[in-house]
Amino acid sequence: MSELFVRTLREDPVDAEVPSHRWLVRAGYIRRAAPGIYSWLPLGFRVLRKVEEIVRQEMDAIGAQEVHFPALLPREPYEATGRWREYGDAVFRVKDRKGADYLLGPTHEEMFTLLVKDLYSSYKDLPLSLYQIQTKYRDEARPRAGLLRGREFVMKDSYSFDVDDEGLQKSYDLHRDAYVKIFNRLGFEYVIVHAMSGAMGGSASEEFLAVAENGEDTFVRSPGGYAANVEAVRVAAPPPISYDDAPAAHVEDTPDTPTIGTLVALANARYPRPDRPWVAGDTLKNVVFMVEEVDGSRHPLAVGVPGDREVDLKRLAAQLEPAEAEPFSDQDFKAHPELVKGYLGPQILGLTGPTKIKYLVDPRVVSGTRWLTGANEPGHHVFDLVCGRDFTPDGTIEAAEVRDGDPAPDGSGPLRLARGIEMGHIFQLGKKYAEALGLKVLDQHGKLVTVTMGSYGVGVSRAVAAVAEGTADEKGLCWPRELAPYDVQLLATGKDEVVLAAAVDLAVQLDDAGVGVLLDDRNASPGVKFADAELMGMPTIVVVGRGLADGMIELRDRRSGEQSNIALSDALGEIVAVVHGRPALA
Ligand code: ATP
Ligand code: MG
Repeated sequence: MSELFVRTLREDPVDAEVPSHRWLVRAGYIRRAAPGIYSWLPLGFRVLRKVEEIVRQEMDAIGAQEVHFPALLPREPYEATGRWREYGDAVFRVKDRKGADYLLGPTHEEMFTLLVKDLYSSYKDLPLSLYQIQTKYRDEARPRAGLLRGREFVMKDSYSFDVDDEGLQKSYDLHRDAYVKIFNRLGFEYVIVHAMSGAMGGSASEEFLAVAENGEDTFVRSPGGYAANVEAVRVAAPPPISYDDAPAAHVEDTPDTPTIGTLVALANARYPRPDRPWVAGDTLKNVVFMVEEVDGSRHPLAVGVPGDREVDLKRLAAQLEPAEAEPFSDQDFKAHPELVKGYLGPQILGLTGPTKIKYLVDPRVVSGTRWLTGANEPGHHVFDLVCGRDFTPDGTIEAAEVRDGDPAPDGSGPLRLARGIEMGHIFQLGKKYAEALGLKVLDQHGKLVTVTMGSYGVGVSRAVAAVAEGTADEKGLCWPRELAPYDVQLLATGKDEVVLAAAVDLAVQLDDAGVGVLLDDRNASPGVKFADAELMGMPTIVVVGRGLADGMIELRDRRSGEQSNIALSDALGEIVAVVHGRPALA
């Protein structure tokens, strides 16, 4: 400790929003260099390398081979797949001295695909899995929470190459198993959820989420084992119902009812239902968005959802990606006087309707359902508007909010909402990149076939923060043994030379026995040493101090706080046993 490059801080950094960020900075593991960009100090770097090592071992174990690409990449391959544009502001772009375009790699599908295309040409060369542990760059809109969402971060990304779907499924399953092992070893509570494949395209896709209150991802799970990222939840559409006995739609005066709440109240007062009161779920809420396509073109999109639900902007965004959507602005409404804000109804919507505005509805809006909705004039709503009879949407969209208690789509019980941090993502890319970049091989029959790919990521630097987040307590970091920078923090407390000499001697013995020791040999008070040891979070704290006169030292478990006094003469064996997880001597 007297030589270690570290300064612990007593104050929280002002920009720290979450415990992991606060503790990693205070304990001297990382330093901020710029927003979302961090330097690794010796302690932090040791943890990062341990995470890398776990990931590397498990990837090697499934036969994936490690390569390393540059982070500085040429524009052309990303142009060929459309991602130079699709990534928009999220990618760091640079020019060289000749004016040629480059980018700092946000992810490397293109480079891997081209490398394999360069060297391989036959089905005999496949299957193949390649991976790298690389620094990625993304100009995130909201870098936050320290390492959890950085603009520079470390990712393990791997890619599998197969001739057919069956091969891809095998590669995917191998990766899934490896990920289970990786996350079990990292030692945090995680869930595997169905996910969207997002900007990458492709089909089967799952995410590994660390369960965490501060997580940015919302997921759902049911008692019967269904688990999905909220973006990926598919609403189970009810069967269509008959509308033979439905009355004709009728427009009524509904002054001052621009919101669902005011509309329901007025409907109950003036137009009561015979069977039960009107509720928000009887209304059909239509929300207009301005969609911007990747090529910059803009068009409105109307989304209809039952009035007891909001449109979830993240779910909508996931459906429209890579296009982006924003709620209609006042200016947009001005430019479209036919759309009456607060009184918008489906009668005029739809690509074949008078406005030619695309109209997508929640899957629950099936043929035969009856709605109370806008009549497209201020102060008017229409009652008994029947889907399939009075209006026909252009299709459905999964954009309505998912609520706690909603039924799981597979019938496995009510969904519960929880929050998590995305730690890993595996998915079957399929042929998207191989097609765009022309990666083909000859199959058994001598026919050229497009290779099918999988893509698999682990947030390596994010894992450092996620583990810190999940394990820290009110005193500081609290590492699981497999990730701790050192096994033991050994404190020499007391001014006596004999104490320091005994501590040094024990440290050397432990070191020889393969135990990682951080020796606190500073000329500082016991209070300072204890506080720093608790802040820095090595799993075992050993104190050589007062008890030495009687031949005793103290052992503390950082997590439980449990203490025991042991004879110095037994110390080596006992500590080795603790570190290796064997029961210590009585
Ligand atoms: P997110 O939804 O959190 O932005 P993503 O879907 O963009 O993640 P991928 O492109 O699948 O992530 O990247 C693979 C892994 O890299 C993620 O599972 C995550 O653990 C990690 N990762 C992604 N973005 C960041 C970031 N900005 N900082 C740290 N780690 C990240
Ligand atoms: Mg992202």
